[in-house]
Amino acid sequence: MDRSETFGDGKIALRIDGDIATVVIDNPPVNAGSHDVRRGLLDAFAAIAGMDGIAGVVLAGANGTFVAGSDLKEFGAPLGEPQLPAVIAAIEATAVPVVAALDGAALGGGFELSLGCDGRVAAPGTVIGLPEVGLGIVPGAGGTQRMPRLAGVPASLGLICGARRIAAEEALRLGLIDAVAADDLRMAARDLLRRLDGKRRVRDLAVSAADPVELEAAKAAALKAGRNRPAAIEAARLVELSATVPFDEALAEERRVFQEIRSSPEAVALRHVFFAERAAGRVDGLSAAPRRIERAAVIGAGTMGAGIAYALLRAGFEVVLIEQTEAALAAGRERVEGLVSGDAAKGRIGEGEAAAMRSRLSPVADLAAVATVDLVVEAVFEDMAVKSALLAGLGQIAAPQAILASNTSYLDLDALAAASGRPDRVVGLHFFSPAHVMKLLEVVRGAKTSDETLATGLWLGRKLKKTAIVAGVGEGFVGNRLYAAYRGQAEMLVEDGALPWQVDAALEAFGMAMGPFAVSDLSGLDIAFARRKRLAATRDPAERYVKIPDMLCEAGRLGRKTGAGWYRYDGRKRQPDPEVERLILAEAEAAGRERRAISDEECRDRCLAALVNEAALVLDETIAQRPGDVDVAFVNGYGFPRWRGGPLWWAAHDGRDAVLAALPQVEAAVGQGFRRGDVEGMLEGISG
Ligand code: NAD
Repeated sequence: MDRSETFGDGKIALRIDGDIATVVIDNPPVNAGSHDVRRGLLDAFAAIAGMDGIAGVVLAGANGTFVAGSDLKEFGAPLGEPQLPAVIAAIEATAVPVVAALDGAALGGGFELSLGCDGRVAAPGTVIGLPEVGLGIVPGAGGTQRMPRLAGVPASLGLICGARRIAAEEALRLGLIDAVAADDLRMAARDLLRRLDGKRRVRDLAVSAADPVELEAAKAAALKAGRNRPAAIEAARLVELSATVPFDEALAEERRVFQEIRSSPEAVALRHVFFAERAAGRVDGLSAAPRRIERAAVIGAGTMGAGIAYALLRAGFEVVLIEQTEAALAAGRERVEGLVSGDAAKGRIGEGEAAAMRSRLSPVADLAAVATVDLVVEAVFEDMAVKSALLAGLGQIAAPQAILASNTSYLDLDALAAASGRPDRVVGLHFFSPAHVMKLLEVVRGAKTSDETLATGLWLGRKLKKTAIVAGVGEGFVGNRLYAAYRGQAEMLVEDGALPWQVDAALEAFGMAMGPFAVSDLSGLDIAFARRKRLAATRDPAERYVKIPDMLCEAGRLGRKTGAGWYRYDGRKRQPDPEVERLILAEAEAAGRERRAISDEECRDRCLAALVNEAALVLDETIAQRPGDVDVAFVNGYGFPRWRGGPLWWAAHDGRDAVLAALPQVEAAVGQGFRRGDVEGMLEGISG
């Protein structure tokens, strides 16, 4: 009996070859579990139940992937029937064994589906996991109950609460799958079917007793990894239930929590960030194909250049590293080597991979070497004269089609593009420090940047596994411009009566990874100081200017690297410093500021309101494409709490009243030169 038919609006194919039925999920691009998929699966398994002569079922995915997760678009409303637990129950009720053939990704609801099967095989490198907690929810189709039956409670706590995605090889070691297929995946699934002696439902397995010490350690680590967000706490509780409560009872409790937590503010905000990240790199009307890049040059092998070179090497590019002098080149080469060997020592990359990276790196102290590359990224000193002279040279030497990218943080990209004599081939690639770690990349589109050049910048971002947003030209582009407004407000607060540690604590309590003063100390106060000096000539003397950070720099307090900045440091630990307090009080008096007691709420709300106001201006000037890009930038580049959805999502939902109430205070604090954006209109557009 050989036949085939489809179900679920064509998204599920059922084929019978001899005594084996194969069910294939085909919902491009990633086979997300949608309503059609669930209905089709249920119908396909019902059809199989009505057939004679079937000995086993293989459940697989088309498009090179099993199921990358559930379709999150459905999560904002009541889920349509059938829901995933019913599909899994039908698989478990199928009289013959069912084996899942996993490739690409088996994540979330996809992996839960496979846990409803009697066995699992995976292609090498398949990504497996239950990352729901990262989206503010818990697995809702038995993941918290079935996973511990295979991997034990401690390991499951780590995987589920830490939202970890693991490779098939680790899943095999943990007992989550039965085999990694050496070659033909579906053949391996059939082999496993033949080896299984009848049904072997995961739900029927006992949860093995955990060592109490190991269990406590796993719980503590799991809750820390989840930063105590409600989803991590609930997930941990559910995983533990697997060992103490009958399966069906615990399953019902899991579903109850899933349904409830799905519409929590955190989950809604996290889904917003998920979709905003997917939209971020898209540019309306951009259809140009990217240029092919194989060989890149990085010019300037300082802090940023070394990180960028390493990121490029890791993504498989050949990299020419260029410095002006042999001495600077040797230091730069050391920096890159330090990153390679550091990651190798930590086991993040294999020794073979490290060796391959070293062989792809060519350090040279001669700009002429750019003649052979497809892409140049410059990361030399932040100085207009230095950078424009360099761009002019590159315009002469680089291959005519080569793309020239600048990592400038603040300088006018259009002026640099003009200096190169080929402005259509110039784009900004603004990396964040450390460049090989931080996810955010601002791809800066100059006035004359061609579509092909822009498309290549975005393509490169994807190759480097960055989250890219497109920014227009303007002082500080999107991220740094908004951050400057936020930090500026923090500095005014300190002159007005707060202290740096109070402001930092207020913003850290809100969820920022670090307060603005701790951040300044980490990145070095001299960077902003240099910028202020550059802008001094064009600054309106009537504008408010807080001198305290300049005074710290003049006192040699440049931040952590000098052991003191806004704080003083004992090793890595920051301490409030009475000397800084004295300096603040003296300067506030000299500036004629009447200091007053300032509440923590005012500290927080003024900083965030200043940020939100600047975002309204940036959007109005079309420097940023969309509000979601601002959220993506702050979550990925500035330590804004992801679970709050980014600053604009937060402001449009939770923070609206606080922001609108603080705006007049911000305006009064800034005084001369303050520009009020259409904050109300922007927030209306986001929440409406
Ligand atoms: P850095 O001082 O650490 O490194 C600059 C390097 O460029 C030095 O090694 C120097 O020898 C080299 N250099 C200078 N002129 C050169 C030339 N003409 N040819 C070849 N090499 C030359 O500076 P950095 O912090 O790495 O910053 C570099 C760029 O990256 C700047 O534009 C900066 O604004 C930008 N940026 C910095 C950060 C950050 O946090 N440090 C973040 C984003 C962007």
